[in-house]
Parts: sequence; structure tokens; C-alpha cells
Amino acid sequence: MDNSANKRLETKRDPMGQAIYDFFHTGKAAKLRVMSSMFYEDEMPVTTLFREFDDMPVQEQKAIELCRGRVLDVGAGSGCHSLVLMERGLDVVAIDISQLSVDVMRERGINAMNVNYFDETFVEKFDTLLFAMNGIGIVGKVERLGDFFRSARRLLAPGGQLLLDSSDIGYVFTDDDGSMDIDLAAGYYGEIDYTMRYKGIKGEPFDWLYIDFDTLSMYAEEYGFICEKCIDGEHYDYLAKLTLK
Ligand code: SAH
Repeated sequence: MDNSANKRLETKRDPMGQAIYDFFHTGKAAKLRVMSSMFYEDEMPVTTLFREFDDMPVQEQKAIELCRGRVLDVGAGSGCHSLVLMERGLDVVAIDISQLSVDVMRERGINAMNVNYFDETFVEKFDTLLFAMNGIGIVGKVERLGDFFRSARRLLAPGGQLLLDSSDIGYVFTDDDGSMDIDLAAGYYGEIDYTMRYKGIKGEPFDWLYIDFDTLSMYAEEYGFICEKCIDGEHYDYLAKLTLK
């Protein structure tokens, strides 16, 4: 799995980007299927990727309310958060490694760029870095949190903040008696492998991290950030705000 800083998605192997592109241009899309070695195959409704403020979960609505100054929407997808922020008068830049998504965002009037968050040559400064819909997932594995915080440090203007929502997926592995059925030697339980498929397009497998608040706080502290919980979501999820110490 290529998680390098130079990584961009190949358009022929970008199922989610193609689904976003189709839905934007035709008003409909085929099934976007999500596979993992850890779960049964699932479907991601493409309409979800085009949600409006009222359809967003509380943690995303709260994140939008907390955004200030110049905002970087990381892994912006269809640009649904960027659009709401722009309507509220904020200055927004959206980045995504999917050229198809970037094309759609530009058509929607968003200042979007095909940039990888981990790319060290991207050196602009922002007051808010927004990672919506478990956007910290792009880290893939906890061992990569160092890279995540290094990029954040590079991109943050003085006094800037990171806003991210994630979930504690420990409940998936918890038995009825409350004990956890996890392989401790296998690494952190929130590290999930995914593959997506849309029409005939199969994406490359990728690692996606879900991180509970305590683990996030511990790493944030280690890398020089203060981590505060802003709000709990409805299903083991939360919104956190991180600032430099
Ligand atoms: N934030 C959007 C989309 C979430 S899907 C929403 O809430 O609807 C995650 C997105 O992150 C995808 O569009 C994917 O292409 C993008 N992505 C994955 N890794 C990335 C990286 N390293 N840098 C920037 N974008 C990335």
C-alpha cells in the first residue's frame, strides 16, 4: 500500500472520485462498495458525500462552527464542507489526492488542489486544518502519526488549530460480557484496511485509521500539541481540537 507523500490517485483506479464525478454530472451514481478484511462488504451512499449542513452529524456541524480564518479542508471529497464554509464567508482551500474530486470541486467554485497532505513541498499557512468524516483516517496507522503532526506544524499559522472527528471502534471487537476480542500483537485496533469498488473500477487497498480520543491525546502530547474534546457524537465518535503547545 503506497502511502507516500507523493501519492496521487490514478484516475482509472479512483472508485470514490469516479462516483463523486458521476453523481455531480448526472445526479446519480452506481453503488460505491467498501470492502475490508475485517468487516462484511458495505455500501457507501454517494449522496452522503454531497451532504448539506443540516444532514451532517453534530461533530461535523460543530467543526464548521469552530472553523476560523483561512481554512484548509483536507481530503475534501466533493467539497461539501468547503461549500458551507465559503457560504459563511471563510477563505477556504480544499485539497484531495483524487483529480476527479478536485475537478468536481473546481466546477462547484471551490479553490481546490490535487495535493497530498503529507507532501512537504506544500507550504502554505492556515488558521484551521479541517479533517472531516474521520479525515485523520489518511494516516492509516498510528506509527504514521508523527508524519501527520509534522505536516500540521508546517501548515499551521501562529495560533492555528486542527479540527478532526474520529471514532473509538473498540465496540466492534467487544463481546457481550464487555471483554475485548482483539489481537494485541496485531497493532492498534483502529487500523483498518479498505478497498473500494465502483462499477468496474477497483481501487488499490489502503489503510485507514480510526483513533479513540485517549490514544489521540497521548500522541498529540508526544508531538507537542494540546488536544481537547469539543463534543461527543452519537456513536462512539467525537470532535477534537488540537493546537500547538
Ligand atoms: N471530507 C470528505 C471526503 C471524505 S473521503 C467528506 O467528509 O465527505 C476521504 C478523502 O480523502 C477522499 O476524497 C480521498 O481521496 C482523500 N485523501 C486520502 N488520502 C489523502 C491525502 N494523503 N491527502 C489528501 N487527501 C487525501
